[in-house]
Amino acid sequence: MPKSSDDNFRDWIPDPKWIRTFQKNLLAWYHENGRSLAWRGTTDPYKVWVSEIMLQQTTTAAVDSYYRRFIKRFPDVKTLAEAELTEVQRYWEGLGYYRRVKQLHQASIVIVNEHNDIFPDTFDAVLALPGIGRYTAGAICSIAQNQRYPILEANTIRLHARLLGYSDDPAKSFGNKLLWKMAEKILPETRPGHFNQALMDLGSLVCTPKTPKCSICPVFILCQAACRGTQNQIPALNKGKTFEERTEVALVVEKNKKYLMIQYPESVRWGGLWDFPRHVADSSEKLIVNQKLLEDFKRITGYSCSIQKQIMTIRHAVTKFKIKLCVCQAELTGQKTVSEYRTYWMSKKELAEIPLNTTARKIVNSILCEHHSDIQS
Ligand code: SF4
Repeated sequence: MPKSSDDNFRDWIPDPKWIRTFQKNLLAWYHENGRSLAWRGTTDPYKVWVSEIMLQQTTTAAVDSYYRRFIKRFPDVKTLAEAELTEVQRYWEGLGYYRRVKQLHQASIVIVNEHNDIFPDTFDAVLALPGIGRYTAGAICSIAQNQRYPILEANTIRLHARLLGYSDDPAKSFGNKLLWKMAEKILPETRPGHFNQALMDLGSLVCTPKTPKCSICPVFILCQAACRGTQNQIPALNKGKTFEERTEVALVVEKNKKYLMIQYPESVRWGGLWDFPRHVADSSEKLIVNQKLLEDFKRITGYSCSIQKQIMTIRHAVTKFKIKLCVCQAELTGQKTVSEYRTYWMSKKELAEIPLNTTARKIVNSILCEHHSDIQS
């Protein structure tokens, strides 16, 4: 007989009695303790989708005000599709991961053009939209459309790994497949979206990354990690995550009360966003101000310049980089020639209105306050 995918996980997946007790205990706990969130209670797939995309890589507390503002301005998929990307990006500014908002906007246009403004109602069609992976498609289909699809995100990876006592890295192929299988097997036939939300809340409120609250956990008696006392070692840390130090320089050039800005082309990570001309130093550059910086500035903007002084330093982290951003004031020394990026001279009012990445917004805030200092984010 051919081996089924279940056979690979037979030693791991709990039996039906365990699953029934888990479902009962979890739902009873959720009834009393579930979080009250702005996007809870809705079955509008558009709103579930927006909330899920916003929640990637960030916390519910950080998303709350963004979600409310976004839904007020773009209450449905048609409104979003008809809006300029620039305006949509402005409503996203500060949430980071700007590719997500571009894909959200692209997907809204696909829904309008190919699905007659109606959010698709099959898992495969949802999964085919730009920026939607297995987790997000499962969340939308289960929460908004009452379809039986599992979810697996940071909270449930941790929860399931501990419940199973799985001490290896859950990001590895076997671990990832095992936890998806666990998520699928424990999902009840009725109200799967409700159950998925309960799982996320238990992971977020009780089975926390550090010091899980096992003594008040409703599934304590079912948990392998708690039984063995290994909950603080599970899930295994991803040892691959190390930060690289990096230095960048942003140049602030003022002329006639306007500031020189560039717009990133659509093909790059921050496509569509504006920024101050920025140079990424390579490890051979010992000085912040050097010939490579000036050449890079000319290539990007078409202008030659001289650096006047450093006006602030911003320290921040992006993906695997710990970045020291040196912000310098510069003056133009020649006429514009051909440039790689589009350039704009913007007033303070325009700077306040355009979508920017987080560090560019800090520079603008500093310009608007005319206050320069060291900032650490
Ligand atoms: Fe997490 Fe502890 Fe509950 Fe196990 S008993 S699921 S480790 S909080």
